[in-house]
Amino acid sequence: MRRPLTAALLALPLFAHAWGPDGHQTVATIAAGLLQGTPAEARIQALLGDIPLPLAAVWADCAKGISPSQNYAYTSAGRYPECAPLETPARIAEMADYVRRNDRQCTLDGEETCHKQTHYADVALQRSRYLLGFAGTRPDDVVGSLRQAILVLQGKPAPGQPQVKSPREALLLLAHWVGDLHQPLHVGAVYLDAQGQRVDPDKQGLDPATQTVGGNSILVTSGRASAPAAPRVAEPPSGPQSPAAAGFGPPKLHSVWDAVPDRFKPDRVNAAWLAEARKLRPNTGDPVDWPVRWATQSLDAARLAYDGLVFSPKQGSHWTVTLPADYNAKADAIKRQQLTAAGARLAWVLKAVFPN
Ligand SMILES: [Zn+2]
Repeated sequence: MRRPLTAALLALPLFAHAWGPDGHQTVATIAAGLLQGTPAEARIQALLGDIPLPLAAVWADCAKGISPSQNYAYTSAGRYPECAPLETPARIAEMADYVRRNDRQCTLDGEETCHKQTHYADVALQRSRYLLGFAGTRPDDVVGSLRQAILVLQGKPAPGQPQVKSPREALLLLAHWVGDLHQPLHVGAVYLDAQGQRVDPDKQGLDPATQTVGGNSILVTSGRASAPAAPRVAEPPSGPQSPAAAGFGPPKLHSVWDAVPDRFKPDRVNAAWLAEARKLRPNTGDPVDWPVRWATQSLDAARLAYDGLVFSPKQGSHWTVTLPADYNAKADAIKRQQLTAAGARLAWVLKAVFPN
């Protein structure tokens, strides 16, 4: 969930939630199911108190309602149903404290506050793996941010950015960022020239004009390939739940990937889905090294997400794409795989940092 600054200003004060809250809560529900009866379950509960893991999984997105330009006030009250349980004075103060600490300590790149940049990376699809230093990576991108959270949960020093002040805050962030890392368009990015042709920022040099902002600058048109996209003056008010909301123009490709179909919503996590997650092969070694590997797999998934897509020439600040007829089915299969992996991996990290 991210957008260029210009779009953010046009659309103030609305914002969208990555994976949509449902995807994040599905990931956390899978993890919670896998952790039942383990020592980690009790440790998580001790840290989070009456915040269940699926609510923790949306905390970092709800914190985007804290406005640095309005003295860190919470400006989204009542707007996002999933955030409602976090809208108490104490919980708003906790979010504001995190945002204040992580507002200006980074190189701002298209976002108005640093903490919003911790939710993604933009590795070019031409790369075969995630490696810090590639175009679109930062020490505080979603991979580096997860590393920070895991270090804090391990009780080790975490001197970099973002600043994570406590195991509780680390857990709130981890539960969200693991989900973001598995949304393919939060890791892999296509870079396009003015003609809509793919370019390689690591080989040709990074030209900001070629950035597609995780697919937020790519609008999905209906079957009429040549139909010009309407100028964007507003975001769909319901965010990722209905990215194609009537009257708000074509959805962004990013939103297509944030949305999950009804059958992947958190209340659909059942024994069969948990069994599927249990079959995945756990990571080995130090958990701080796991997010890099997960990112490489998300990059593979992003390559599939963009496979065969043809883009229009740039029109103003965006390109357009017409999706093939079978695209949704392909996307849903990838989403299911990524949600399952994310749930399993969130559980593995928590088991590793809370062994007893
Ligand atoms: Zn996010």
